[in-house]
Amino acid sequence: MIPMVDLKQQYQALQQEINPAILAALAETRFILGPNVSAFEQEAADFLKVKHAITCASGTDALMLALACIDLKPEDEVITTPFTFIATAEAIAYFGAKPVFVDIDAQTFNIDTNKIKAAITDKTKAIIPVHLFGQAANLGEIQTLCKAHNLVLIEDAAQSFGSKYQEKYTGTVGDMGCFSFFPSKNLGCYGDGGMITTHDDNLAEKIKIFRNHGSKKRYYHDILGYNSRLDELQAVILRIKLNHIEAYNQKRQQVAKIYTDILKEKQSITTPYQSDYANHVYHQYTLLLNNRDQVMETLKAQDIASAIYYPIPLHQQNVFKDQNINTVLPITEKISQQCLSLPIYPELTSEQAEYIAKTVYSAAL
Ligand SMILES: *Cc1c(COP(=O)(O)O)cnc(C)c1O
Repeated sequence: MIPMVDLKQQYQALQQEINPAILAALAETRFILGPNVSAFEQEAADFLKVKHAITCASGTDALMLALACIDLKPEDEVITTPFTFIATAEAIAYFGAKPVFVDIDAQTFNIDTNKIKAAITDKTKAIIPVHLFGQAANLGEIQTLCKAHNLVLIEDAAQSFGSKYQEKYTGTVGDMGCFSFFPSKNLGCYGDGGMITTHDDNLAEKIKIFRNHGSKKRYYHDILGYNSRLDELQAVILRIKLNHIEAYNQKRQQVAKIYTDILKEKQSITTPYQSDYANHVYHQYTLLLNNRDQVMETLKAQDIASAIYYPIPLHQQNVFKDQNINTVLPITEKISQQCLSLPIYPELTSEQAEYIAKTVYSAAL
């Protein structure tokens, strides 16, 4: 069986490094906000060329902490994409605020920046673009809108660690960038983990206070905070994997190239579009197909996994039924019916990639 991701192979390759480092951290016993957490934060900030990187318990929490920092209120609105994982909108809704969904671009599957302006009201507080599947949203355009309307720009970079918008890493262009280290992400740990990046000293200070029970000085609490910290063992793993992230992302790009070279020859298949302003790191390799279910069945019969990200756009989710979100978003709705993601991970061999692509090629109509 070829799975969507193969974490076992990666662990086997890294265990000589990871096992002793974990044992050393266990012996240290500084499990919360310990030395590996601060070292990882510094190393991640250096890698991404951002002033501050502050870890937390998950990508969802990263979004929550970012929104806490801008004091999001129930009457506020936040503009985002409907074609993403639920967490992006969940974070907004936790504050009682309204996620306002703007349709996506048919080529990149990222928020359509031409449609954002019409969605801005005097209640709009922020825009959260998602760099879907590892490819940067059109941040230049979004930044211009944010400046013109005095909005905060929070990047959901959960799927795009190491990818770039022009010369800058995603997550370092807006006011804050939110990352997830969920095991299957491009940079993943062995449990839950997250991080917020910012160039702003005041925001960095606030995030650190919010993640630690609203406390700057121990047992003195000035604001209502959260308990959301990355644990020391996850930091140990992330420090090791950060050294490999560029090679991992390059391997993903090589797999994507093998897929595209074969599949672009078939007219009925739409291969992933690469924007000229983005360096796509292929968290997912996602095609559009006319006969998706049939292709999925054929792959399954050949022991090849495939997955639909995302079958139900967020504006159509039951959880938002009462939120007065009765929009029709035709591009998102169409793409969610046609999209299919193929296995992609650094350890996938060229032979496997060719075999998968040829199977898709013959099954597509
Ligand atoms: C994974 C993901 C999140 C949430 O991250 P967790 O670490 O699982 O909480 C948020 N946004 C997007 C786009 C994601 O893919």
